[in-house]
Amino acid sequence: MKTTDVQKLYNEYVMPTYTRLPVCLVKGKGSRVWDLEGKEYLDFFPGWGVSCLGHCHPAVINAIKHQSRTMLHIPNNFLNIKQSELASEIVKASFPGRVFFGNSGAEANEGAIKFAKKYGGETGRYEIITMKRSFHGRTIAAMTATGQDKFHQGFEPLIEKFHYAEFNDLESVKKLLTPKTVAIMLEPIQGEGGIHVAKPEFMQGLRQLCDERDMLLILDEVQTGMGRTGKMFAYQHYHGVEPDIMTLSKALGGGVPIGAFVVNKRIRKEVLTAGMHGSTFGGSPLVCAASLAVFKAIRKEKLLTNTVRMGELLKIEFEKLREKYPVIEEYRGMALMCALKLSAPSAPYAQEARDRGLLVNSTQGDVLRFLPALNVTAKEVRRAVAILDQVFAKLSKKQEDCSCSTH
Ligand SMILES: *Cc1c(COP(=O)(O)O)cnc(C)c1O
Repeated sequence: MKTTDVQKLYNEYVMPTYTRLPVCLVKGKGSRVWDLEGKEYLDFFPGWGVSCLGHCHPAVINAIKHQSRTMLHIPNNFLNIKQSELASEIVKASFPGRVFFGNSGAEANEGAIKFAKKYGGETGRYEIITMKRSFHGRTIAAMTATGQDKFHQGFEPLIEKFHYAEFNDLESVKKLLTPKTVAIMLEPIQGEGGIHVAKPEFMQGLRQLCDERDMLLILDEVQTGMGRTGKMFAYQHYHGVEPDIMTLSKALGGGVPIGAFVVNKRIRKEVLTAGMHGSTFGGSPLVCAASLAVFKAIRKEKLLTNTVRMGELLKIEFEKLREKYPVIEEYRGMALMCALKLSAPSAPYAQEARDRGLLVNSTQGDVLRFLPALNVTAKEVRRAVAILDQVFAKLSKKQEDCSCSTH
């Protein structure tokens, strides 16, 4: 089979909901992947942040192998050792609380939204404030929570009732408060939105607002969670800010589909009880075993330290590129969740990088986004930067040439 054969099957049988790259990835190891024709790539966007230990980490593979020999799936009306162990692992790494397991980020957020609506029900509150430029997933509620028009178009009427505030602007949040507001939901670092880091004053202000008005602070850590920012969860960078609900997915399973939301014990009443929420596949022994292996590997291989160090190295190297190429306006991010904001469309840059064997992401039109594996090495970082250097040398020169000719 060739890539073009796979494309043919796609054109015939797969729904065209993605702008699909003409590359068929068949094998991965660490931060390297290979396509069907055997071309090798350095992956600085492994699975949109899912493959946090790189591809096919031996610990994850072994956990899956071992678990699949004994029990793949059991329904959620039975006890499941791996699920109980994973819930305890998540809580020990975050805050006293309880965990519900689903299968994706959207589902984790959907659960958090259901929780908030139920929580506010007694007092007639159901409105949720989210942020512009946010991303929370594609189910109806998660899509409505997403503060970007392009995701809503054609799917109206949306569900009641979300208000969209300006990220990092506490006053704009306050303006949207009504007696019916029950929760504020945001990503500590907006990912799809182009890597925007929440300011400490903003997060602390939101925490205070929620405390004053008995509202829930919901942090979507689907992309920021599991060590990506150098701490296990991004909220841990913010002094005095603990969420009431935290949602997780992506890197949580190191490559297998899993999502979760964690409800803080500070919420004393039981809000979701037997029969109110559920998921057939949620928290199966298979995915929980994989996720437990991720937690273990992060500890054993000291990956939080590596994430901070490699993040610093990337930042230094990116700043050098920025000085060299005016098309790079800004570096943004934290540790291994970072981006370069360009003054030109970023897609051609991502494509040129891919042609030269480096996978990166282009988002929001003019942003190049990087989410390398937490175990990426200094050598890999330098190689990625060297490739980007060539990409910028080629494309920004072209751009200068055309701006000259129009003057
Ligand atoms: C990817 C993402 C989601 C959606 O996750 P799915 O697994 O695709 O449903 C939600 N929130 C954030 C912050 C994300 O990055």
